Amino acid sequence: QELKLDEFKKAQNSLIRYCGEFTPFIAEKASGSYIYDKHGQAVLDFTSGQMCSVFGHNHPKIVEVLKQAGDKAIHLLSAILSPPVIELSLELTKALPESLSKCIFLNTGSESNEVAIRMAKLYTGGHEIIGFSGSWHGMTAGAQSYTYSKTRKGYGPNIPGSLMIPAPYEYRCPIAHCKGSCDNTCLEVGMKMVDQQSVGAYAALIAEPLLSAAGMIELKPSYIKRLKELCDERGLLLIFDEAQTALGRLGKTFAFEDYEVVPDFLTLSKTLGGGLPLAATITSSTIEEECYNKGFVFITSHVSDPFCASFGLASFQILYEENLAEAAGEKGAYLKQLLLELQLKHECIGDVRGKGLLLGVEIVKDRDTKIPDDNLGFDICNRCLSLGLNMNIVRMKGYGSVFRIAPPLTISFEEIDLGISILDQAITDCTV
Ligand code: PMP
Repeated sequence: QELKLDEFKKAQNSLIRYCGEFTPFIAEKASGSYIYDKHGQAVLDFTSGQMCSVFGHNHPKIVEVLKQAGDKAIHLLSAILSPPVIELSLELTKALPESLSKCIFLNTGSESNEVAIRMAKLYTGGHEIIGFSGSWHGMTAGAQSYTYSKTRKGYGPNIPGSLMIPAPYEYRCPIAHCKGSCDNTCLEVGMKMVDQQSVGAYAALIAEPLLSAAGMIELKPSYIKRLKELCDERGLLLIFDEAQTALGRLGKTFAFEDYEVVPDFLTLSKTLGGGLPLAATITSSTIEEECYNKGFVFITSHVSDPFCASFGLASFQILYEENLAEAAGEKGAYLKQLLLELQLKHECIGDVRGKGLLLGVEIVKDRDTKIPDDNLGFDICNRCLSLGLNMNIVRMKGYGSVFRIAPPLTISFEEIDLGISILDQAITDCTV
């Protein structure tokens, strides 16, 4: 134990603290649903790393691609293409509706949203972008400007033209209108609010189908349908940011398959590379053509890198061969049921929500007042880790204290049972 702490302290001296304090666990190895320290202590990972290792840590097919990478082109001048990039563009567009036919491959979710935003601005001639309160689209200046979670304070103003509408947070209606089930009034009200702020230069609206950083708030099909109508009426292009929801997590390859709405832009990241840095932006040939004619530029050092694209090909192979989208639906329903049973037992669980294997558990002081219990949530999280379960908690003003549960799609039912029993124990330990 002393040795571990010593190692941790040494690291603390030389690292920038980019997200508050580091977790006191140094991961040496990772495999399947577990991460391990160098002493062999195993921790069940209920977050799939930073929600990226959707096929489990170090999936054998991903490792195989890694091993073969040295024999192939790894990195090229940005305008030079390679077989993995060409094949991945075909694989991706084959899986998508006809109108989503043009791709670009990058590394991070932030970049994928920057591309969508830049193209939307160029195509429409507008500059106003609407995002949801509580959303997360990245940490680069543009993506950050439409990221309405707590990460902006202290960094100066947003890019001009950034507008916000409330997320349909059923548990605490943002406009104090609905009690329980959302009737989408917040959408109508929110749109009227941004219309009043707009200078008539709308470009796009960006939305996660399930807002993760806001504490797992799902945009329901009827909401999305109306959202699309409202966007069309205003000439707003619709961007779906599926960083966390794609590649099977919500029970379909892409979450938007459950809606009758196809976005103008789809952005993918996190899950696309199965744990490696790969992102994509996909749009229509009409938008691509117009942007090309207007001189569209987006050059980053690792755009179209063959190395990263090859992981995307492996990801689709794993997803289809192991039927993981369907598995996520089944396992997600099972996990949600167990969480609802935990809610019956523990008064501090105010709400259980989410879809597929992207679930939220909200911790409150009291179910009637719904006052968030930030300290308890944090204590439970720490206790889980010491009992062998890695959990993530988001604590946002106005949004409560919520565990984000996003295990790999390859998790077994036994591992789900184990995780739930640890969470149960941790809540008991922290509330007695
Ligand atoms: N979009 C969503 C929905 C995300 O959750 C994130 C990352 N948390 C991003 C975009 C940004 O991705 P990255 O950190 O790879 O830039």
